[in-house]
Amino acid sequence: MENRNEPMDLIELKDICRTYHLGEVAVPVLKGITLNVAGGELVALMGTSGSGKSTLMNLLGCLDHPTSGEYWLDGREVSRLTANERARLRNRIIGFVFQSFNLLPRTTALENVMMPLTYSRENLSEQQKKLRAIDLLRKVGLADRIDHQQSQLSGGEQQRVAVARALVNHPRILLADEPTGNLDSRTSEEILQMFQQLNSVEGITIILVTHDQGVAGWAQRTIRIKDGLLEDGIEPLIVAGDV
Ligand code: ADP
Ligand code: MG
Repeated sequence: MENRNEPMDLIELKDICRTYHLGEVAVPVLKGITLNVAGGELVALMGTSGSGKSTLMNLLGCLDHPTSGEYWLDGREVSRLTANERARLRNRIIGFVFQSFNLLPRTTALENVMMPLTYSRENLSEQQKKLRAIDLLRKVGLADRIDHQQSQLSGGEQQRVAVARALVNHPRILLADEPTGNLDSRTSEEILQMFQQLNSVEGITIILVTHDQGVAGWAQRTIRIKDGLLEDGIEPLIVAGDV
């Protein structure tokens, strides 16, 4: 493992490329992404459909690895870890929330939230696992839904379960890929409020994919991806005459 002395951000991508291969055809999707995210940031990632947002999130979440480039996560270069090593790392410091909730069917809210604890290194007893999951379900406002199955929950409730599940291993980073894409505006707002709290109160670093400017407004910083590259303009715009 490489080590460096200078202070570093929680997330550092250096010239990340990801090319998919469809038979003989190489499809370059990410073409040199360089990005730093400091611990405690709430960042929105925007871009049109097909621009590579999910591809980038999957790399950030160690669900996939880049074709080339470096990914420094919490001071460690992780782009060339094996799938197993990536899974362990992910389980330890990353929570993931998806647009389609991805709860297990015919499984209760409680069981869904407890599921990632199966792979945890904490060695909790069943009772401790249960208490932690119930505590989180309470926190996301679902104390009275713990025994409901996925099919018995509304979209907003399912996403709350998914958020509780993403938090159950106390991640430092929460990655959310269009988490409000399937929710009405009021429910979206409630989910975004939860994210903001998790960020400001608990200091969880959040990266949120959206194509909705209103959703991006909840973030401290917006980055935009286009044609496989991040666009300039990461800094807030200063209008002439303001300074
Ligand atoms: P976004 O999330 O911004 O809509 P994606 O990252 O899902 O975009 O996809 C970016 C591009 O990569 C799209 O053109 C998509 O068709 C292509 N793509 C995504 N996943 C794969 C894959 N597994 N194999 C081949 N092409 C893919
Ligand atoms: Mg996507």
